Amino acid sequence: MTKTQTTNAQDARTGIQPTLNPGDEAPPGTMGTGEDVCPDCHGKGRIDGAPCATCGGSGTITRAIGGA
Ligand SMILES: [Zn+2]
Repeated sequence: MTKTQTTNAQDARTGIQPTLNPGDEAPPGTMGTGEDVCPDCHGKGRIDGAPCATCGGSGTITRAIGGA
């Protein structure tokens, strides 16, 4: 008859993960966060000609502002 498939396999663990760079403190769009200039490359996006790993070459990171 009706086969109810309870396979809600869309777990958050393997689900949608916004691009999070090592320098990001929270996923973009998170409440209480804002963009800040990358402390490693100072907004240039690269260090010694190589893409900055901290910000992923974007020059900015997502920082937790810690409002509360
Ligand atoms: Zn950087």
